[in-house]
Amino acid sequence: MWHKPTTLADALTLLAEAAKRPCVIAGGTDLMVERQLGKTVTPEAWLDVSALNALHEIDAAPDTLRIGAATSLRTVARHADVQARWPMLAASAALTGATPIQNRATLGGNLVNASPAADNPPVLLAYGAEIELASVRGIRLLPLTEFYTGYRQTVLAADELVIAVRLPTPPENARHYYRKVGTRQAQAIAKLSLAALYELDAAGKITAMRCGMASVAATPAALPGLAAWLRGQTPATVDPAALRAQLALEITPIDDIRSTRAYRLEVAARLIEDSLTDLSDH
Ligand SMILES: Cc1cc2nc3c(=O)[nH]c(=O)nc-3n(C[C@H](O)[C@H](O)[C@H](O)COP(=O)(O)OP(=O)(O)OC[C@H]3O[C@@H](n4cnc5c(N)ncnc54)[C@H](O)[C@@H]3O)c2cc1C
Repeated sequence: MWHKPTTLADALTLLAEAAKRPCVIAGGTDLMVERQLGKTVTPEAWLDVSALNALHEIDAAPDTLRIGAATSLRTVARHADVQARWPMLAASAALTGATPIQNRATLGGNLVNASPAADNPPVLLAYGAEIELASVRGIRLLPLTEFYTGYRQTVLAADELVIAVRLPTPPENARHYYRKVGTRQAQAIAKLSLAALYELDAAGKITAMRCGMASVAATPAALPGLAAWLRGQTPATVDPAALRAQLALEITPIDDIRSTRAYRLEVAARLIEDSLTDLSDH
């Protein structure tokens, strides 16, 4: 059975009343591949959220941006406010697959699929994103740092939908660094990626840092320990050995078909170093 409600209220009622949660589908670019590969059983019912207008809105206010969960990554990448104030998100959306994928793939699908290699969660972590979860019980706002509970697992309840992502506007003087490392320039799953947002004082010391990394842990990783460790340091004098020791406390990369654990540990350190050099260079 294929359900395609046109109002959020109808979609939430359907979820609340279903004996078994229908499979929520947005762009289908993850789900259809998984089905093709036989990784998932065909569900009894589908809930297609693509016709829910409320999930397609992008609202930019001076201090915040709200992006509907069913917004395509192409729309996110090309949005003028996103490009101007959240450039790392414009970049990560534009690097998620190729254009045909970006036309169908949604920001919400990329988050809920909960792959540790997904391109947009690290950026949203660096920007301090919150996500809106809706059910007939109401809407709850959750920091993205609390959304992932383990490999491909989230706190999403059986009757909930992700309806939007909220991003605070970064301070004017914040410095944005984003780099995705893949096998190829385009259409590659991340071996690793880093999104980092820095603030510096007049003396050039780091006063605030927030980041996200892909493919270094079971979930997209926020690395709060690294951020705290970097605070108060001058980018040019960060000790490489101490940085590696700090990173090893917080990330647990695996060996897989894309990279080895040792490679990921080294590249993670080098990406942080590169982001620090970037701060010194400008
Ligand atoms: C060829 C190809 C290349 C790709 N390249 C990349 C890449 O480079 N980087 C990358 O990160 N990803 C990549 N992907 C994966 C995929 O395109 C993205 O993860 C995409 O953002 C998923 O969005 P979707 O709308 O298609 O999700 P769907 O497949 O529709 O859904 C994915 C998951 O999210 C759930 N879901 C979707 N929307 C909601 C909602 N509103 N509320 C609750 N649950 C919801 C679904 O139930 C499902 O579990 C690629 C996929 C393909 C086929």
